[in-house]
Amino acid sequence: MGFTISPILFVMAMEVILKAAEDSADPANLGNGCCMPPLKAFMDDTTIICSKEDETRRMPERLHVLMAWCRIKFKPKKSRSLSVRKGKIDATTIFTVASQQMPAVSQEPVKSLGRWYDSSMKDTKRGLETVELATEGLLAINRYGLQGKLKVWCLQFMLIPKLLWPLLIYEICSTTVEAIKAKINKFTRRWLEVPPGVTDVAMYCRKAKMRLPLKSILEEYNCGKARLLSMLEDSEDPVVKTVKPTIKTGRKWKVVEAVDEAKECLKTKEVTGQTQTDRKGLGSSTAKRWSKAEGKEKRDMVIIEIRLNEDSRRVQRAVQQPQQGQWTNWDNALQKSLTWTEIWHMAPLRISFLIRSVYDLWPSNANLVRWGKKEDPTCPLCQGRQTTEHVLSSCKIALSQGRYTWRHNRVLQELAAIISTAKGETTFLIPTR
Ligand SMILES: [Zn+2]
Repeated sequence: MGFTISPILFVMAMEVILKAAEDSADPANLGNGCCMPPLKAFMDDTTIICSKEDETRRMPERLHVLMAWCRIKFKPKKSRSLSVRKGKIDATTIFTVASQQMPAVSQEPVKSLGRWYDSSMKDTKRGLETVELATEGLLAINRYGLQGKLKVWCLQFMLIPKLLWPLLIYEICSTTVEAIKAKINKFTRRWLEVPPGVTDVAMYCRKAKMRLPLKSILEEYNCGKARLLSMLEDSEDPVVKTVKPTIKTGRKWKVVEAVDEAKECLKTKEVTGQTQTDRKGLGSSTAKRWSKAEGKEKRDMVIIEIRLNEDSRRVQRAVQQPQQGQWTNWDNALQKSLTWTEIWHMAPLRISFLIRSVYDLWPSNANLVRWGKKEDPTCPLCQGRQTTEHVLSSCKIALSQGRYTWRHNRVLQELAAIISTAKGETTFLIPTR
C-alpha cells in the first residue's frame, strides 16, 4: 500500500469484488420508501447493512468466497456484528464467516472510521470521556514550566482542536460542552494572571474595545454542528435527502433553531441593504447577497452569521455588567485587537495589565471599597475618588508632579523613533540630483 498507484489498484479490485457480491442481498429498507445499498466501503473497511437475517448471513459468506478467490483472507475475529430487532439490540443472533464466529458489538466495541461503536448505541459515555480528555489535557499543560501565554497558546492551538473532533462526530449535548468551557476559562484566567471574576465576554467578545485572539470552545462546537447540519441539508445523496438525519445537541441549544435564526437574519439583512458601520468611505465594502449565494458560500455565510449573533449576545451581556461592561460607553475609544505576534513580544504581566485596566479590575481604592476590603475610596495624593481611570489618567497631583508627562514623553519618543527611521528610508530612496 506504500506506492501511490497501489491504493488505487486496491480500490479498483475491491470495487469489482463488492459489485460481484452486491446481488446477494436486496437494498436495506430504512422505512418511508427509502432504501440503502447493502454494501458500503471505504478502502478495506466494509460495512454490510441488510434488513433480513438470512441475507445478512449470505452476504459475508459470498464475500468470503470471492475474497478467497482473490487470495485475500477475511479475519472474522476482527470484524463485528450488530443485530437490531424492532429498535432493540438482539445479542442472541451470532453471525459466522467460514464457520468462524464474528464477535458482536455488545461483546467487543469497535472503532470504525474514527468513531467508536458499543452496545449502548448512545454517546453519553463519549461525552464523559471528552470531559475527562479536556481535564487531563488542561492539567498536563498546567504541569509544564512554561510562561502563562505559552500555556494559553498550547490550549488554543493543540487541545481545543483535539477536543473539537469528538464533539463534532458524537452526539454530545451543549451542557457538556459548557462544562468543558468552564474548565478551560478557569485555566485561561489563571495562565493570563487575571482575577477569577473576568467574564467570558471579556475573553471572547470580538466587538469589545480590547479583543483577545482567543476562541471559545462552545462557539466552535456550535459552528461545527451548524456546518454539519447545512452539509447534510445540501447533500446530493438520495438516502440522506429522504432520511433527513437529525443532529442532537441537547435541550438548551438546538442547532436547527440556530441555523434558522441565522438564515432569517441574512434574509432581513438583504432586505434592509448594506449599512455603514465604520469609518470607511461609502461603498468601500461589498456585501454578499444571500439570495445569490450557493453551496459552500451559503454555508459559510450561515456560519459567519452564527458567530455574529453570538457576539451580539456577548455585547448584550456586557451592557448588563456595570463594572466590566464600562467599555460599552466608550464611544470615542478605538478597538485594540491583540494578535498572537503582539502577545509573543509582551512582557509576562503586560497582558494581565491590559485586561485589568480595560475591565476595571485593579485594586484601586474605589474597587477595594466595593469589594469590602477598605472603607475610604479617596486618592492619597489629591483626595479625589481613586478609580482606575483616576490613577491612569486624571489625578491632578500626579499630573503636576510630572508622572503623566513622563509617560506622555515616552510615547512621543516611540513616535519620534519610528518617524526618524521612516524618514531615513525615504531619503535613502529619493534619487540625488
Ligand atoms: Zn488623585
